[in-house]
Amino acid sequence: MKFNPLNWLLGFFSLDIGIDLGTANTLVNVRGKGIVINEPSWVAINKKTREPLAIGAEAKEMVGRTPTNVIAIRPLRDGVISEFEITQAMLEYFIGKAHEQSIVPVPRPRLVIGIPSGVTEVEKRAVYDAGMSAGAREVYLIEEPIAAALGAGLPISEIRGSMIVDIGGGTSELAVLSMGGIVVSRSLRVAGDEMDQDIVQYMRNKYNLLIGERMAEQAKITIGSAYHLPQEKTMTLRGRNLVTGLPEAVEISSVEIREAINGSVQTIIDTIKDALDEAPPEIVADLMETGICMTGGGSQLQMLDKRISEEMRIRAWVADDPMSCVARGAGIILEDLDHLNHLLVGLERGSTKH
Ligand code: ADP
Ligand code: MG
Repeated sequence: MKFNPLNWLLGFFSLDIGIDLGTANTLVNVRGKGIVINEPSWVAINKKTREPLAIGAEAKEMVGRTPTNVIAIRPLRDGVISEFEITQAMLEYFIGKAHEQSIVPVPRPRLVIGIPSGVTEVEKRAVYDAGMSAGAREVYLIEEPIAAALGAGLPISEIRGSMIVDIGGGTSELAVLSMGGIVVSRSLRVAGDEMDQDIVQYMRNKYNLLIGERMAEQAKITIGSAYHLPQEKTMTLRGRNLVTGLPEAVEISSVEIREAINGSVQTIIDTIKDALDEAPPEIVADLMETGICMTGGGSQLQMLDKRISEEMRIRAWVADDPMSCVARGAGIILEDLDHLNHLLVGLERGSTKH
């Protein structure tokens, strides 16, 4: 990256912020400082007035424990803004928090926000507007797979093709990239959350045990896998027996969890196959060398890389610190906005491109 002294100097007087507005976690990357916020994308609101009461980690703590007049929600659950005002409140809160940390008072920030690929014009506009009304001076949008690939260090501007598979909470984003653009992309609503639901369902069907989403997520993270483990493990899950109505603990094995989530894992793999089918043969040939890079929290499922490598016959690997790739990618864009603006998404009216 070229050193730009003007940009460097401006950094002291302006605030540039990259945001990964994820369905599960929001990360905020401040230019010159790095990732300063990493919190769950949760907001607790008053059911009647819809006034936000707590945001981020504090709101997630309340999940499943709120009194009747309070609900905890994830405004981006499916990857797009379903609750505009609440998303805006969340953005405002995180931007405010990042602001607090600057030494000198600075004007309104410039934002780079990651959005899922293939969202509609209306959805793009909603993210843009949420950023603007949260107090930004300028808002730039970048497609998440491009940000993830940049953050993972893939050579996306080269002619040679590369592939990114970002598995988050609500959505998985797949993209084949070449020359800084998306050649083929897929976005699906099967990712980490769906696997948690699979586990809840499995426990209910097999053991008549009703467990919470967070317990299911713990099981997935601790003993879940996509391929047999060198040493299978067990774990105790607690919940309520649906027949007796009493609390119960059941010991469950990693083999069972694998069986429970297999459908979701297979759906993701089938979508990778589908995307590769559509990619030009020259690029598929490139991918046999460059492999498939995985990012997002869901990519950390044990043995998922091995399972994908085996089924696709293309090496798949997990990026370093896979959960921060989108935020780091947005940071890379901010470092050199002038030269990298071709990677940004334009809006139909009032384009964000220069
Ligand atoms: P998003 O970008 O949608 O906010 P993240 O990239 O933050 O999502 O990933 C969140 C998802 O990753 C959750 O479903 C979480 O359960 C899952 N996850 C986090 N760590 C692991 C792990 N070690 N194994 C499997 N899944 C994981
Ligand atoms: Mg994400």
